Amino acid sequence: MIEDAKERFATLKASGMLPSPQGVALAVLELTQKNDVSLQTLTHLVQTDPAMAGRVLRYANAVHGGSLRHIASLSHAIVFLGLFRVRQIALGFSLIDHYRSGACAAFDYLGYWTASLATGIAAQQVAAQAQCPPDESFTCGLLSGIGRLALATAFPVEYGDMLALKLEGPALLEAEAAQFGLDHAALSGELLEDWGLPDIFHQAVRHHEIPGEAPFPAGSRAQALTAALHFAAKVGLLLTLDSSRRWERVPSLYQAAAQVGLEDHEVPPLVDAVVTQWQDWGRELRLPTRDFSDIKDLLNMPPDPGGEAGLSALVVLPMRVVLVARDAGLLRGLAETLDAMGLAVELATDRDGALKLLAGKRADLLMVELPDGGEDSVRALRELRAGEGGRQAYCIVLIPPEAEAGAARLMQAGASDYLLSNYSEAALMARLNAAQRVVALQGAVRAERESVIRSSGDWARSNRRLLREAHTDPLTRLYNRRYGMDRFAQEWSFSLHSATPLSCLMLDIDHFKRINDLHGHDVGDLVLTRMARVVEDGCRKDDVVFRYGGEEFCIVSPHTALADAAQLAERIVRAARETDFGREGVTEPVTLSVGVATRTAADADLESLIVRADKALYAAKEGGRDRVMASRGA
Ligand code: GH3
Ligand code: MG
Ligand code: MG
Repeated sequence: MIEDAKERFATLKASGMLPSPQGVALAVLELTQKNDVSLQTLTHLVQTDPAMAGRVLRYANAVHGGSLRHIASLSHAIVFLGLFRVRQIALGFSLIDHYRSGACAAFDYLGYWTASLATGIAAQQVAAQAQCPPDESFTCGLLSGIGRLALATAFPVEYGDMLALKLEGPALLEAEAAQFGLDHAALSGELLEDWGLPDIFHQAVRHHEIPGEAPFPAGSRAQALTAALHFAAKVGLLLTLDSSRRWERVPSLYQAAAQVGLEDHEVPPLVDAVVTQWQDWGRELRLPTRDFSDIKDLLNMPPDPGGEAGLSALVVLPMRVVLVARDAGLLRGLAETLDAMGLAVELATDRDGALKLLAGKRADLLMVELPDGGEDSVRALRELRAGEGGRQAYCIVLIPPEAEAGAARLMQAGASDYLLSNYSEAALMARLNAAQRVVALQGAVRAERESVIRSSGDWARSNRRLLREAHTDPLTRLYNRRYGMDRFAQEWSFSLHSATPLSCLMLDIDHFKRINDLHGHDVGDLVLTRMARVVEDGCRKDDVVFRYGGEEFCIVSPHTALADAAQLAERIVRAARETDFGREGVTEPVTLSVGVATRTAADADLESLIVRADKALYAAKEGGRDRVMASRGA
C-alpha cells in the first residue's frame, strides 16, 4: 500500500504537476541541502527576495519573543533561526505566494491558505504538548493539508468534480485514493518527505486527520504530534468558518484539545493567542482572516434555525421571561397572560431595570416593547442584547401595528421574532411556541456541550498524566531514558542541520554503592532522587536532563559549546558537593563526576558523542572523582 503511494507519487512528481517551491525558496532548499553552506551565501540569497527577507526577519523576531533585543539584521535572524528553520520558512511562504489561485475552480485557494495559516499557528501554540520545538511545528501545521492543494493543482477538473460531492473524512480519502491513486493525506506526507522535513513530521501529517488509526505507540512523540496537528487543524477550520457554523464545531475541538492534554479552561486563551497572530500574519501574507470574539460565546449562541427539523412538538418549559415596556397597560396585560400560562415573568419599565434583570438569573425569553424600527429603537435593542445575559435569551419585540414595516430592521438588529402590540391570543401563542422550541433546543444543546466540555476536562487531565508518565522515570521524576534519547536524537538532527553546537554531559554519582551499603537501599533511593533535583536545578531552560540509568544522568545542551557546557557541569558538581543530604539520612558529602563532550564534524552520529562523554566521565573518575572532564574532540 505504502509502496503503491510512493510509486504513484514518483509518477506525479515526474509529471511536474505538483506544487513546488519556486525562485529563492527553491534555491534556499537546494543550497541548505549541501553540507557546507556559508551564512554569507544564504544571507545574500535570501536578500535577493525582499519580501522573503522581511518575513524571515519578522518570523525570527516573533519566535524570539522580544525577550532579548530586537533582531534587526537578516544575517542575525538567520543565525538565530538556523539553516533548518530558514529553509522551512522559505518553503512555506513560497508555496503561499505561488499558489494563491489556480485552475481548480471548486478549490478555494485563499480559504485553504488562511485555514492552513491558522493551523500552523495553532500547531505552534500546542507544540509544548507535542514535545517538539514550536517553530518547527508551524511549518508542519501550515503544510499539513498540502495534499489537497496538490490534488487541486494536478487534477483541476477531476478534483473539482470530486469536491462538488462535498465528501469529508474517510469517504473523501477513499474517493481520492480510488480516482487519483493516492489520497491527500498520503500525498501531504510524500511531499513533506520529499522536501526534506523530519520523519516525524511527515508521519504525523499522514495520520493527523484520523489520529485514532495512526500506528504510533501511546506516549510516543509521533503520536503526540499527530494529536497536536489534529487539534490545530480543528482550530484552523473553526476560525475560517462562518460564525453561525462555528458553533457546532466546538465540542469536537474540546475533545481534540483533551487528546493533547489541554484542559477546557486552557482552550479559550490558546485560541485567542492564535487569532491575534493569525490576523497579524494574515495581513502580512495578504490572506483574509476573520474576527473571532470568544469561544465561550459560541456555546451560548442560538442554533441555526434552519437545522431544527423534527423538533416541532410543543415543549412546555418553565421559561423565565423578562418583559420590558414603557406602556403600563400593555405591560400589565401581557404579564397577566404570561403569568396565567405558568411562566415566571419579571418586569422592567426602562433600560437600566431590564439590564439588571438580564444580568441576574438566566432569562430564556426577553420581550421588549419598542415604538418603531427607527434608529433609537435599534440602538435600545442592541444595548439590551449586548448586555450581560442579553444575547442568550430568545428575544421578541413588541411594536405598534403601524410600525410593522420596521420589524425587519429590528430582526436584523438582534430580535428573534416580533409581535404587534394589538396581538391576538393566537398570535401570542404562536410566538411563544416558537420561542419555547428554540429555548428547549438551546438548553439541550447547551447541556450536551457543557457535559462534553466537563468530561473532556477530566480526559485532558488523565491524558496529560498518561503522556507525562510515559516519559517519566518513576523514582526520580526526571525524563526516562527512552524519552531522553528521543529528544537527544531530535536535538542532534537540529544541530546538524542548523550548524549550531550541541553538548552532552554524562553525570554519575560517586561511590554510590557505598551509600547503599552503609545506609540501605531506601536511603540510596532518597539520595538519588534528591540528586536528581540538584542536577535539574543546575540546568538551563533549553537543557534536556534525563535518567540515563542506575545512578547516572545525562544532560543534552542545545546551542552550547564545550566551554559553556563545562561551566554548566562545574556548577552542578559544586552544587552537589555543597548539598547537605542530612534530611535523606546521609551526613557525609555526596559528589558527582561529569564527562562533557560537544559535537564535532568527526562525530558520525549521536552514539559517537555519547561515547566521548562517557570516556570523559571515566577519566573524571580516574582523576579522583568530584570533578569535570571534557572530551577534546573525536
Ligand atoms: P563510582 O564512583 O565509580 O561511580 O562508584 P559507584 O559505587 O557509584 O559505581 P557502581 O556503578 O559500581 O555502582 C552503582 C550502584 O548504584 C550500584 C547499584 O546498586 C546502585 N543503584 C543503581 N540504581 C539504583 C537505584 O535506583 N536505587 C539505589 N538505591 N541504588 C541504585
Ligand atoms: Mg554508574
Ligand atoms: Mg557511580
